[in-house]
Amino acid sequence: MNRHDEDTERTFAALPPAHGRGFAQTWWGRAWLKSLEDAAMDAAQVKTGRRLARAGAVGAVSVRPGRITAVVQDRDRTAHRADVLLEKLSDAQWDRFVDLAIERSGHVAALLDRDMPPHLVEDAATAGIDLLPGMGDLEPECDCGAWDHCGHTAALCYQVARLLDQDPFVLLLMRGRAESAVLDALQSHGGAPAEDGARPPDGVDAAEAYATGHVLPPLPAPPAARDAPGVPPSLDTGNAPPPGVDPAALGFLASRAAAEAHRLLAEALRGGHERQAVSTEPDASEDAVRLATGDPEPDVSRRLGEGSGRTAESLDAAVHAWRLGGGAALSVLEQEWTVEGDTLARARAALESAWDEDERPALRARGNRWTVVGAPHQLRLDREGRWWPYRRERGRWVPAGGAAHDPATALASAVPAVGDEP
Ligand SMILES: [Zn+2]
Repeated sequence: MNRHDEDTERTFAALPPAHGRGFAQTWWGRAWLKSLEDAAMDAAQVKTGRRLARAGAVGAVSVRPGRITAVVQDRDRTAHRADVLLEKLSDAQWDRFVDLAIERSGHVAALLDRDMPPHLVEDAATAGIDLLPGMGDLEPECDCGAWDHCGHTAALCYQVARLLDQDPFVLLLMRGRAESAVLDALQSHGGAPAEDGARPPDGVDAAEAYATGHVLPPLPAPPAARDAPGVPPSLDTGNAPPPGVDPAALGFLASRAAAEAHRLLAEALRGGHERQAVSTEPDASEDAVRLATGDPEPDVSRRLGEGSGRTAESLDAAVHAWRLGGGAALSVLEQEWTVEGDTLARARAALESAWDEDERPALRARGNRWTVVGAPHQLRLDREGRWWPYRRERGRWVPAGGAAHDPATALASAVPAVGDEP
Protein backbone atom coordinates (compact mmCIF):
# COMPACT_ATOMS: atom_id res chain seq x y z
CA MET A 1 0.00 0.00 0.00
CA ASN A 2 1.39 3.34 -1.00
CA ARG A 3 1.54 5.75 1.91
CA HIS A 4 0.57 8.63 -0.36
CA ASP A 5 -2.82 7.22 -1.27
CA GLU A 6 -4.82 9.37 1.12
CA ASP A 7 -6.32 12.59 -0.19
CA THR A 8 -4.92 12.06 -3.62
CA GLU A 9 -8.03 11.98 -5.73
CA ARG A 10 -8.41 14.77 -8.24
CA THR A 11 -11.63 15.35 -10.13
CA PHE A 12 -11.76 17.20 -13.42
CA ALA A 13 -14.99 18.71 -14.67
CA ALA A 14 -16.38 17.44 -17.94
CA LEU A 15 -14.77 19.17 -20.91
CA PRO A 16 -16.70 20.82 -23.69
CA PRO A 17 -16.83 19.00 -27.03
CA ALA A 18 -13.47 19.09 -28.84
CA HIS A 19 -13.76 20.72 -32.22
CA GLY A 20 -11.47 19.61 -34.96
CA ARG A 21 -8.43 19.20 -32.74
CA GLY A 22 -6.33 16.19 -32.03
CA PHE A 23 -6.70 14.97 -28.48
CA ALA A 24 -3.06 15.06 -27.63
CA GLN A 25 -0.84 18.01 -28.41
CA THR A 26 2.04 17.02 -26.18
CA TRP A 27 4.42 14.18 -26.82
CA TRP A 28 3.41 12.46 -23.59
CA GLY A 29 -0.29 12.83 -24.43
CA ARG A 30 0.39 11.18 -27.77
CA ALA A 31 2.36 8.38 -26.15
CA TRP A 32 -0.59 7.80 -23.82
CA LEU A 33 -3.03 7.46 -26.71
CA LYS A 34 -0.62 5.27 -28.64
CA SER A 35 -0.69 2.72 -25.84
CA LEU A 36 -4.48 2.62 -26.13
CA GLU A 37 -4.56 2.49 -29.91
CA ASP A 38 -1.84 -0.17 -30.15
CA ALA A 39 -3.41 -2.45 -27.58
CA ALA A 40 -7.10 -2.33 -28.39
CA MET A 41 -8.22 -5.50 -30.17
CA ASP A 42 -11.04 -3.70 -31.89
CA ALA A 43 -10.10 -0.56 -33.76
CA ALA A 44 -13.79 0.26 -34.16
CA GLN A 45 -14.12 0.64 -30.36
CA VAL A 46 -11.21 3.08 -30.31
CA LYS A 47 -12.90 5.05 -33.02
CA THR A 48 -16.21 5.03 -31.15
CA GLY A 49 -14.38 6.22 -28.04
CA ARG A 50 -12.76 9.07 -29.89
CA ARG A 51 -16.13 10.11 -31.29
CA LEU A 52 -17.81 9.97 -27.85
CA ALA A 53 -15.02 11.99 -26.25
CA ARG A 54 -15.12 14.53 -29.05
CA ALA A 55 -18.87 14.92 -28.59
CA GLY A 56 -18.47 15.70 -24.90
CA ALA A 57 -20.00 12.41 -23.71
CA VAL A 58 -17.44 11.90 -20.94
CA GLY A 59 -18.51 13.24 -17.55
CA ALA A 60 -16.25 14.46 -14.77
CA VAL A 61 -13.05 12.42 -14.62
CA SER A 62 -11.73 11.17 -11.31
CA VAL A 63 -8.02 10.46 -11.16
CA ARG A 64 -6.60 8.35 -8.34
CA PRO A 65 -3.42 6.37 -7.93
CA GLY A 66 -3.79 3.37 -10.21
CA ARG A 67 -7.20 4.29 -11.59
CA ILE A 68 -9.17 6.77 -13.66
CA THR A 69 -12.95 6.80 -13.68
CA ALA A 70 -15.75 8.57 -15.50
CA VAL A 71 -19.33 8.11 -16.50
CA VAL A 72 -19.64 7.96 -20.27
CA GLN A 73 -22.91 8.41 -22.10
CA ASP A 74 -23.72 6.39 -25.17
CA ARG A 75 -25.41 8.08 -28.08
CA ASP A 76 -28.70 6.64 -26.83
CA ARG A 77 -28.00 8.38 -23.46
CA THR A 78 -27.30 5.14 -21.59
CA ALA A 79 -24.70 5.95 -18.94
CA HIS A 80 -21.80 3.60 -18.25
CA ARG A 81 -19.22 3.74 -15.52
CA ALA A 82 -15.86 3.25 -17.16
CA ASP A 83 -12.57 2.68 -15.34
CA VAL A 84 -9.07 2.35 -16.67
CA LEU A 85 -6.42 0.87 -14.40
CA LEU A 86 -2.73 1.61 -14.57
CA GLU A 87 -0.11 0.04 -12.37
CA LYS A 88 1.33 2.25 -9.62
CA LEU A 89 5.03 2.70 -9.08
CA SER A 90 6.48 1.27 -5.89
CA ASP A 91 7.97 3.54 -3.23
CA ALA A 92 11.43 2.41 -4.29
CA GLN A 93 10.67 3.33 -7.90
CA TRP A 94 9.41 6.73 -6.82
CA ASP A 95 12.57 7.39 -4.84
CA ARG A 96 14.63 6.48 -7.88
CA PHE A 97 12.48 8.71 -10.09
CA VAL A 98 12.98 11.66 -7.76
CA ASP A 99 16.74 11.03 -7.82
CA LEU A 100 16.71 11.04 -11.61
CA ALA A 101 14.65 14.23 -11.73
CA ILE A 102 17.01 16.21 -9.53
CA GLU A 103 20.12 15.03 -11.37
CA ARG A 104 19.47 17.85 -13.79
CA SER A 105 18.07 21.14 -12.63
CA GLY A 106 16.38 21.51 -16.01
CA HIS A 107 14.16 18.52 -15.26
CA VAL A 108 12.70 20.02 -12.11
CA ALA A 109 12.22 23.39 -13.78
CA ALA A 110 10.44 21.70 -16.68
CA LEU A 111 8.14 19.71 -14.38
CA LEU A 112 7.24 22.84 -12.45
CA ASP A 113 6.45 24.38 -15.80
CA ARG A 114 4.03 21.51 -16.54
CA ASP A 115 6.39 20.07 -19.09
CA MET A 116 7.57 16.46 -19.16
CA PRO A 117 11.23 16.27 -20.17
CA PRO A 118 11.70 13.38 -22.64
CA HIS A 119 15.13 12.60 -21.20
CA LEU A 120 13.70 12.17 -17.75
CA VAL A 121 11.14 9.70 -19.06
CA GLU A 122 13.83 7.85 -21.04
CA ASP A 123 16.25 7.74 -18.11
CA ALA A 124 13.46 6.49 -15.87
CA ALA A 125 12.52 3.79 -18.41
CA THR A 126 16.16 2.69 -18.54
CA ALA A 127 16.04 2.37 -14.76
CA GLY A 128 12.94 0.16 -15.10
CA ILE A 129 10.45 2.86 -14.17
CA ASP A 130 7.73 3.22 -16.75
CA LEU A 131 5.85 6.48 -16.38
CA LEU A 132 4.03 6.32 -19.67
CA PRO A 133 1.92 3.24 -20.26
CA GLY A 134 3.14 0.80 -22.86
CA MET A 135 1.03 -1.42 -25.05
CA GLY A 136 -1.58 -3.20 -22.94
CA ASP A 137 -0.81 -1.27 -19.75
CA LEU A 138 -4.14 0.56 -19.75
CA GLU A 139 -6.49 -2.04 -18.34
CA PRO A 140 -10.20 -1.42 -19.07
CA GLU A 141 -13.14 -2.11 -16.74
CA CYS A 142 -16.59 -1.11 -17.86
CA ASP A 143 -20.08 -1.90 -16.68
CA CYS A 144 -21.18 -2.51 -20.27
CA GLY A 145 -19.50 -5.89 -19.83
CA ALA A 146 -16.90 -5.67 -22.57
CA TRP A 147 -13.77 -7.68 -21.78
CA ASP A 148 -11.46 -5.44 -23.79
CA HIS A 149 -11.54 -1.71 -24.41
CA CYS A 150 -15.03 -0.60 -25.31
CA GLY A 151 -16.09 2.78 -26.65
CA HIS A 152 -16.52 3.98 -23.04
CA THR A 153 -13.06 3.17 -21.74
CA ALA A 154 -11.55 4.40 -24.99
CA ALA A 155 -13.49 7.66 -24.63
CA LEU A 156 -12.15 8.00 -21.09
CA CYS A 157 -8.60 7.53 -22.35
CA TYR A 158 -9.09 10.20 -24.99
CA GLN A 159 -10.49 12.61 -22.44
CA VAL A 160 -7.58 11.97 -20.10
CA ALA A 161 -5.19 12.71 -22.96
CA ARG A 162 -6.61 16.24 -22.96
CA LEU A 163 -6.03 16.50 -19.21
CA LEU A 164 -2.50 15.17 -19.55
CA ASP A 165 -1.72 17.81 -22.12
CA GLN A 166 -2.53 20.48 -19.58
CA ASP A 167 -0.81 18.87 -16.67
CA PRO A 168 1.62 15.94 -16.71
CA PHE A 169 1.21 15.67 -12.92
CA VAL A 170 -2.06 13.88 -13.75
CA LEU A 171 0.09 11.00 -15.02
CA LEU A 172 2.25 11.05 -11.91
CA LEU A 173 -0.91 10.89 -9.81
CA MET A 174 -2.09 7.82 -11.74
CA ARG A 175 1.31 6.30 -11.08
CA GLY A 176 0.77 6.80 -7.36
CA ARG A 177 1.78 10.23 -6.15
CA ALA A 178 0.01 13.55 -5.91
CA GLU A 179 1.73 16.68 -7.13
CA SER A 180 2.33 17.92 -3.57
CA ALA A 181 4.04 14.64 -2.64
CA VAL A 182 6.26 14.78 -5.73
CA LEU A 183 7.20 18.39 -5.08
CA ASP A 184 7.87 17.67 -1.39
CA ALA A 185 10.18 14.84 -2.39
CA LEU A 186 11.98 17.00 -4.95
CA GLN A 187 12.39 19.74 -2.37
CA SER A 188 13.61 17.51 0.43
CA HIS A 189 16.23 16.16 -1.99
CA GLY A 190 17.32 19.70 -2.72
CA GLY A 191 15.98 19.83 -6.23
CA ALA A 192 13.02 22.14 -6.00
CA PRO A 193 13.09 25.88 -5.38
CA ALA A 194 14.06 26.70 -1.81
CA GLU A 195 11.95 28.91 0.42
CA ASP A 196 14.45 31.73 0.17
CA GLY A 197 13.73 32.10 -3.51
CA ALA A 198 16.83 30.37 -4.84
CA ARG A 199 15.49 28.93 -8.09
CA PRO A 200 16.97 26.36 -10.38
CA PRO A 201 18.35 28.06 -13.45
CA ASP A 202 15.71 28.89 -16.04
CA GLY A 203 15.44 26.65 -19.07
CA VAL A 204 17.53 23.64 -19.91
CA ASP A 205 21.17 23.45 -20.84
CA ALA A 206 21.99 23.77 -24.52
CA ALA A 207 23.32 20.22 -24.89
CA GLU A 208 20.10 18.79 -23.50
CA ALA A 209 17.93 20.99 -25.68
CA TYR A 210 19.94 20.01 -28.75
CA ALA A 211 19.85 16.33 -27.91
CA THR A 212 16.08 16.34 -27.46
CA GLY A 213 15.54 18.03 -30.81
CA HIS A 214 14.82 14.79 -32.64
CA VAL A 215 12.62 13.37 -29.87
CA LEU A 216 10.23 16.25 -29.72
CA PRO A 217 7.24 16.45 -32.02
CA PRO A 218 6.92 19.49 -34.28
CA LEU A 219 5.50 22.61 -32.71
CA PRO A 220 1.72 22.65 -32.64
CA ALA A 221 -0.12 25.00 -34.97
CA PRO A 222 -0.71 28.42 -33.44
CA PRO A 223 -4.04 28.76 -31.66
CA ALA A 224 -6.91 30.17 -33.69
CA ALA A 225 -7.38 33.91 -33.41
CA ARG A 226 -10.26 34.94 -31.21
CA ASP A 227 -12.48 37.95 -31.69
CA ALA A 228 -12.09 39.15 -28.15
CA PRO A 229 -9.89 38.47 -25.14
CA GLY A 230 -11.08 35.66 -22.89
CA VAL A 231 -12.90 36.45 -19.68
CA PRO A 232 -10.88 35.65 -16.54
CA PRO A 233 -12.60 33.44 -13.97
CA SER A 234 -14.70 35.20 -11.37
CA LEU A 235 -12.94 35.70 -8.05
CA ASP A 236 -16.19 36.27 -6.25
CA THR A 237 -16.38 33.22 -4.00
CA GLY A 238 -18.85 34.67 -1.54
CA ASN A 239 -16.17 34.51 1.16
CA ALA A 240 -14.21 37.45 2.49
CA PRO A 241 -10.74 37.54 0.88
CA PRO A 242 -7.73 36.97 3.14
CA PRO A 243 -6.05 40.13 4.41
CA GLY A 244 -3.97 41.91 1.82
CA VAL A 245 -5.77 40.33 -1.13
CA ASP A 246 -7.84 42.68 -3.27
CA PRO A 247 -10.05 40.61 -5.62
CA ALA A 248 -11.10 43.68 -7.65
CA ALA A 249 -7.47 44.55 -8.32
CA LEU A 250 -6.61 40.93 -9.19
CA GLY A 251 -9.60 40.68 -11.50
CA PHE A 252 -8.55 43.87 -13.22
CA LEU A 253 -4.95 42.67 -13.63
CA ALA A 254 -6.16 39.35 -15.05
CA SER A 255 -8.41 41.05 -17.58
CA ARG A 256 -5.60 43.40 -18.62
CA ALA A 257 -3.26 40.43 -19.02
CA ALA A 258 -5.87 38.65 -21.15
CA ALA A 259 -6.34 41.75 -23.31
CA GLU A 260 -2.59 42.14 -23.76
CA ALA A 261 -2.18 38.44 -24.59
CA HIS A 262 -5.01 38.74 -27.10
CA ARG A 263 -3.37 41.76 -28.70
CA LEU A 264 0.02 40.03 -28.91
CA LEU A 265 -1.52 36.87 -30.34
CA ALA A 266 -3.44 38.79 -32.98
CA GLU A 267 -0.24 40.60 -33.88
CA ALA A 268 1.72 37.36 -34.11
CA LEU A 269 -0.94 35.69 -36.24
CA ARG A 270 -0.95 38.62 -38.64
CA GLY A 271 2.50 37.42 -39.54
CA GLY A 272 5.71 39.29 -39.91
CA HIS A 273 6.50 39.17 -36.21
CA GLU A 274 7.98 42.59 -36.50
CA ARG A 275 10.13 43.45 -33.58
CA GLN A 276 8.54 46.01 -31.39
CA ALA A 277 10.75 48.86 -30.34
CA VAL A 278 11.05 48.06 -26.67
CA SER A 279 13.61 50.50 -25.50
CA THR A 280 13.55 49.92 -21.78
CA GLU A 281 11.85 47.75 -19.23
CA PRO A 282 8.79 49.66 -18.08
CA ASP A 283 9.16 50.80 -14.51
CA ALA A 284 6.46 50.51 -11.90
CA SER A 285 5.45 54.14 -12.27
CA GLU A 286 4.99 53.75 -16.01
CA ASP A 287 3.26 50.42 -15.52
CA ALA A 288 0.70 52.00 -13.21
CA VAL A 289 -0.25 54.41 -15.98
CA ARG A 290 -0.42 51.66 -18.58
CA LEU A 291 -2.78 49.72 -16.31
CA ALA A 292 -4.87 52.80 -15.59
CA THR A 293 -5.59 53.16 -19.32
CA GLY A 294 -7.67 49.97 -19.02
CA ASP A 295 -10.53 51.88 -17.34
CA PRO A 296 -10.25 50.18 -13.96
CA GLU A 297 -12.83 50.48 -11.19
CA PRO A 298 -12.45 53.74 -9.23
CA ASP A 299 -10.93 51.83 -6.32
CA VAL A 300 -8.26 50.24 -8.48
CA SER A 301 -7.61 53.58 -10.14
CA ARG A 302 -7.10 55.21 -6.77
CA ARG A 303 -4.61 52.52 -5.76
CA LEU A 304 -2.70 52.89 -9.03
CA GLY A 305 -2.44 56.62 -8.36
CA GLU A 306 -1.35 56.20 -4.77
CA GLY A 307 1.08 53.43 -5.61
CA SER A 308 2.77 55.52 -8.27
CA GLY A 309 2.79 58.76 -6.30
CA ARG A 310 0.22 60.57 -8.44
CA THR A 311 -2.88 62.53 -7.54
CA ALA A 312 -6.12 61.61 -9.29
CA GLU A 313 -5.61 64.62 -11.52
CA SER A 314 -2.03 63.82 -12.47
CA LEU A 315 -2.97 60.18 -13.10
CA ASP A 316 -5.70 61.40 -15.48
CA ALA A 317 -3.18 63.54 -17.31
CA ALA A 318 -0.75 60.62 -17.45
CA VAL A 319 -3.45 58.31 -18.87
CA HIS A 320 -4.31 60.95 -21.44
CA ALA A 321 -0.65 61.20 -22.46
CA TRP A 322 -0.31 57.42 -22.60
CA ARG A 323 -3.24 57.16 -24.97
CA LEU A 324 -1.63 59.71 -27.24
CA GLY A 325 1.74 58.03 -27.45
CA GLY A 326 2.59 55.45 -24.81
CA GLY A 327 5.77 55.68 -22.75
CA ALA A 328 7.33 58.39 -24.92
CA ALA A 329 4.33 60.68 -24.41
CA LEU A 330 4.32 59.94 -20.69
CA SER A 331 7.95 60.85 -20.21
CA VAL A 332 7.41 64.09 -22.12
CA LEU A 333 4.56 64.89 -19.75
CA GLU A 334 6.37 64.12 -16.54
CA GLN A 335 10.05 64.71 -17.19
CA GLU A 336 11.94 67.81 -18.14
CA TRP A 337 15.41 67.45 -19.60
CA THR A 338 18.21 69.63 -20.79
CA VAL A 339 18.67 69.94 -24.53
CA GLU A 340 22.26 70.60 -25.52
CA GLY A 341 24.89 70.09 -28.20
CA ASP A 342 23.81 68.64 -31.55
CA THR A 343 20.30 67.99 -30.29
CA LEU A 344 19.86 71.65 -29.42
CA ALA A 345 21.27 72.74 -32.78
CA ARG A 346 18.88 70.42 -34.59
CA ALA A 347 15.92 71.61 -32.51
CA ARG A 348 16.72 75.24 -33.26
CA ALA A 349 17.10 74.51 -36.96
CA ALA A 350 13.73 72.74 -36.96
CA LEU A 351 12.07 75.70 -35.25
CA GLU A 352 13.80 78.08 -37.64
CA SER A 353 12.61 76.35 -40.78
CA ALA A 354 9.08 75.45 -39.59
CA TRP A 355 7.53 78.86 -40.15
CA ASP A 356 7.97 81.75 -42.53
CA GLU A 357 9.62 84.71 -40.90
CA ASP A 358 6.39 86.67 -40.43
CA GLU A 359 4.43 83.71 -39.02
CA ARG A 360 6.92 82.33 -36.53
CA PRO A 361 5.60 82.59 -32.97
CA ALA A 362 7.80 84.04 -30.28
CA LEU A 363 9.05 81.13 -28.18
CA ARG A 364 10.65 81.08 -24.77
CA ALA A 365 12.76 77.97 -24.10
CA ARG A 366 13.32 76.14 -20.87
CA GLY A 367 14.84 72.67 -20.93
CA ASN A 368 13.07 70.70 -23.64
CA ARG A 369 10.01 72.98 -23.52
CA TRP A 370 9.31 75.90 -25.81
CA THR A 371 6.40 78.08 -24.68
CA VAL A 372 4.63 80.48 -27.01
CA VAL A 373 5.00 83.96 -25.50
CA GLY A 374 1.63 85.33 -24.55
CA ALA A 375 -0.34 82.17 -25.42
CA PRO A 376 -1.25 79.00 -23.49
CA HIS A 377 0.62 76.80 -25.95
CA GLN A 378 3.82 74.87 -25.68
CA LEU A 379 6.01 72.48 -27.67
CA ARG A 380 7.94 69.72 -25.95
CA LEU A 381 10.82 67.93 -27.60
CA ASP A 382 11.23 64.22 -26.91
CA ARG A 383 14.48 62.28 -27.02
CA GLU A 384 13.75 61.03 -30.51
CA GLY A 385 13.53 64.56 -31.92
CA ARG A 386 9.74 64.69 -32.13
CA TRP A 387 7.61 67.62 -30.99
CA TRP A 388 4.62 67.23 -28.68
CA PRO A 389 1.92 69.93 -28.44
CA TYR A 390 0.81 71.08 -24.98
CA ARG A 391 -1.92 73.42 -23.89
CA ARG A 392 -2.39 75.21 -20.60
CA GLU A 393 -5.75 74.42 -19.01
CA ARG A 394 -6.79 75.47 -15.52
CA GLY A 395 -3.22 76.20 -14.56
CA ARG A 396 -1.71 72.91 -15.83
CA TRP A 397 0.07 71.91 -18.98
CA VAL A 398 -1.83 69.06 -20.64
CA PRO A 399 -0.99 67.07 -23.76
CA ALA A 400 -2.89 68.46 -26.73
CA GLY A 401 -2.17 65.87 -29.39
CA GLY A 402 0.25 63.40 -30.88
CA ALA A 403 3.88 64.03 -31.79
CA ALA A 404 5.12 65.44 -35.08
CA HIS A 405 8.56 65.82 -36.55
CA ASP A 406 7.65 69.31 -37.66
CA PRO A 407 7.14 71.82 -34.82
CA ALA A 408 4.60 73.85 -36.82
CA THR A 409 2.44 70.77 -37.35
CA ALA A 410 2.64 69.95 -33.65
CA LEU A 411 1.82 73.47 -32.53
CA ALA A 412 -1.18 73.61 -34.84
CA SER A 413 -2.81 70.80 -32.85
CA ALA A 414 -2.28 72.71 -29.59
CA VAL A 415 -4.12 75.74 -30.92
CA PRO A 416 -7.88 75.14 -30.91
CA ALA A 417 -9.59 75.80 -34.21
CA VAL A 418 -11.60 78.99 -34.40
CA GLY A 419 -14.82 78.48 -32.51
CA ASP A 420 -13.37 75.96 -30.01
CA GLU A 421 -12.21 78.72 -27.71
CA PRO A 422 -14.56 78.87 -24.75
ZN1 LIG B 1 -18.18 0.06 -21.95
